Amino acid sequence: MEVFYKSTRDSGVCVRASEAILKGLSEDGGLFVPDHIPALDVSLGELAGMDYRQVAYEVMKLYLTDFTEEELKTCIGRAYDSKFDAPEIAPMREASGAWYLELFHGPTIAFKDMALSILPHLMITAARKNRIKNEIVILTATSGDTGKAALAGFAGVEGTKIIVFYPKNGVSPIQEKQMVTQKGDNTLVVGIHGNFDDAQSGVKKIFSDRKLAEEMDRRGFQFSSANSINIGRLVPQICYYVYAYTRLLAQGRIKEGEKIHVVVPTGNFGNILAAYYAKNMGLPLDRLICASNENKVLYDFFRTGTYDRNREFVLTSSPSMDILISSNLERLIYRIAGENADRTRELMAALGGQGRYEIDPGMRESLQDFYGNYASETETAAEIRRLYETCGYVIDTHTAVASAVYRKYLAETQDTTKAVIASTASPFKFTRSVMNAIDGGYDAMEDFALADELSKLAKVRVPNAVEEIRTAPVVHDKQCEADKMEDTVREFLGI
Ligand SMILES: *Cc1c(COP(=O)(O)O)cnc(C)c1O
Repeated sequence: MEVFYKSTRDSGVCVRASEAILKGLSEDGGLFVPDHIPALDVSLGELAGMDYRQVAYEVMKLYLTDFTEEELKTCIGRAYDSKFDAPEIAPMREASGAWYLELFHGPTIAFKDMALSILPHLMITAARKNRIKNEIVILTATSGDTGKAALAGFAGVEGTKIIVFYPKNGVSPIQEKQMVTQKGDNTLVVGIHGNFDDAQSGVKKIFSDRKLAEEMDRRGFQFSSANSINIGRLVPQICYYVYAYTRLLAQGRIKEGEKIHVVVPTGNFGNILAAYYAKNMGLPLDRLICASNENKVLYDFFRTGTYDRNREFVLTSSPSMDILISSNLERLIYRIAGENADRTRELMAALGGQGRYEIDPGMRESLQDFYGNYASETETAAEIRRLYETCGYVIDTHTAVASAVYRKYLAETQDTTKAVIASTASPFKFTRSVMNAIDGGYDAMEDFALADELSKLAKVRVPNAVEEIRTAPVVHDKQCEADKMEDTVREFLGI
């Protein structure tokens, strides 16, 4: 059955998967959502016998229904290959009573690679299918990891340009170095004077400017998004939950149909939303444990039913989760509002205006799938140390937030259901925070020397992604004010 994509803010919009991927965001500012969530049509037992690429095909074919089998398999084959330094693509590691699903074995050592290694292929295929003549301009706001993963995916891809905006003082040194050393004539990296929410709002504003879109069209350009608001990011993320579950099944660690928890370190709510979709497809998932850092707007939302971004923005050691407006939550709101676009639009207007909204009791009822909690900076560091000391396993700060929240959940509930923790970044991406958590006193050491220290401690080779940027020259040094993002885009495109 064909899946069409509707807008969360306008019930009149209905497009095919390839069009939704090309557009990124609906013209009314809403997000594209499938008109129904398809059910898995092969058994979990069969999936347990497949490799990552095969599982990915079985999931993605159900959502991207206007792609042919050959098109999808080509995209999947080009994405999940030797760019990943683990043959399983997403290996699992058991430690301290939980499974860590390592989603960081791609070219930029963060989980964004899971979707951004395939998005460029999906997008070029979609452009061909829709006979698009314009050059596609990917506009991306990043809290650190999306930027490099999108740059790596789109650099040198014919028919595309990519512009990345990041908060100048809000990403880790390794993250920044990864981005500003990106080669490719079709790439632009800009540090903005503001935080991630400013970058994201600026990008959204450019996207919903119709006059600008018309002008772009006359000049032979059109915008699209590589942010997790693009359905072409969300769908590939569903695959690894199905993969993780069926690995445990294949190894005899769970029985077919046994429910497991998943724990997800959350920022923009894309990763955990993918788990929610997987659950709604029939994957036996129990609680979806949403872990926040000190920017705990989601924890407060699950606890009170009020989403309120009016609070201080905290810079933490898990910068990819330093977010007060979790864009993908809109897709969940739409669903628990009974797929009511008018209601969703009202709530999002309140968020845009007053910075807060409250959901009604009926909607709150539908949030039972979720458990929210948060970890402070101290708890996060303590969790890194604990895992290292008890198991010799070194995790990054984001994964540590999830791991610490899972321990809070266990302490509260004594629930012995098995759990998979999404491990979203390599510790080598956040070396300073990780090393200081394990054993203080590294303040004077520079970042690459720290990576060598970490390598000795964790008994893991320094990943290629870090080796590559050790000596790479900086090629991007552009900065701009948060309200000058459009001018920067115009200048780059020469319009
Ligand atoms: C992006 C990111 C997150 C947050 O994921 P969302 O899908 O935005 O909720 C968590 N950890 C890392 C390392 C990330 O890069």
